[in-house]
Amino acid sequence: MTAGRPREAGAPLNFPIGAVSTFSHGAERIYSRGDGTPAWEALETVLGGLEQADAVVYASGMGAVTAIFSLLDHGSRVLLPTDCYHGVVALAEQAEAQGRLQIERCSVTDTDAWCSQMGTVDLAWLESPTNPLLDVGDLARILSAGAASSTLVAVDNTFATPLRQQPLAMGADLAMQSTTKFIGGHSDLLGGVVTSRQPELIDSLRQARTVMGATPGSLETFLALRGVRTMALRLDQSEASAQELVARLQQHPSVGVVRYPGFGSMVSFDLANAAVADRFCESLQLVLHATSLGGVESTLERRAGTPGQEHLPAGLIRMSVGCEDVNDLWNDMTRSLDASG
Ligand code: PLP
Repeated sequence: MTAGRPREAGAPLNFPIGAVSTFSHGAERIYSRGDGTPAWEALETVLGGLEQADAVVYASGMGAVTAIFSLLDHGSRVLLPTDCYHGVVALAEQAEAQGRLQIERCSVTDTDAWCSQMGTVDLAWLESPTNPLLDVGDLARILSAGAASSTLVAVDNTFATPLRQQPLAMGADLAMQSTTKFIGGHSDLLGGVVTSRQPELIDSLRQARTVMGATPGSLETFLALRGVRTMALRLDQSEASAQELVARLQQHPSVGVVRYPGFGSMVSFDLANAAVADRFCESLQLVLHATSLGGVESTLERRAGTPGQEHLPAGLIRMSVGCEDVNDLWNDMTRSLDASG
């Protein structure tokens, strides 16, 4: 992948960490919050290139989400999936409590309901696969209905990544990712990105970043650029392991429902109850008991403990499969399953 690299003779292959807020007067770039930095632009070139689109990078995934929500007029109607990243739900519910937005919820698996709302709601916010139940919507149908309507349609593509799902090609106006996850890939940065093929939306999103100040840091930009270059390799490895673990989990007597969208490296499964699930999480030695996802290291946690996640089975474990040896992962998990009773 050569995109986003300086190419002049003698240039370093990677953008140096550009710790800069201001530039000497006399050129277009004056102040980095509004005018960006060469490193942000390199990251935007790479992330936009993955979707044949333009990209705007942010300080975090929630920074990217907030920029999209800031495009809505007062009183707008927003449709959210019933199962949806809790931070997005919290943002929308806060706006609703303040009288700024009206929220409706609908399962992402109910294709007819989503299609029938297109043209009625102002923003259709899709997540597929959903976090953490891994529900998958018929995005081809929903997004084509959305494209033919006045509704602004955005897809949180964090779990699938553009390597497994391309919402813009299916008709979405906006695709968003937390680059904290699979793009960064090493659990060492916070970042977000929105992509679009519509220049006027990109302009508005840049403007939102400038006024909100949700700008990515220099080190984070460097790490995201470095991370994205190995995303395909990491994802192939962790997806193959996830598929193997799903097959093994389905055979394990202590495991209930196993949820897997058919691609990617996110897996959710049910243990008997909250106490068993907590003991399982605490007795792991290789897999890390931690939130977040998309890193080279496998992480998992019990999700029902999180506020706004009351719809989840109490013993539901969400796992992000990393790049470790799959047999090492399985040995750790079976030992912990046995130990947790
Ligand atoms: N969207 C999804 C699906 C997520 O899982 C997360 C974080 O876990 C976010 C958005 C928010 O991203 P960030 O933590 O980078 O703000």
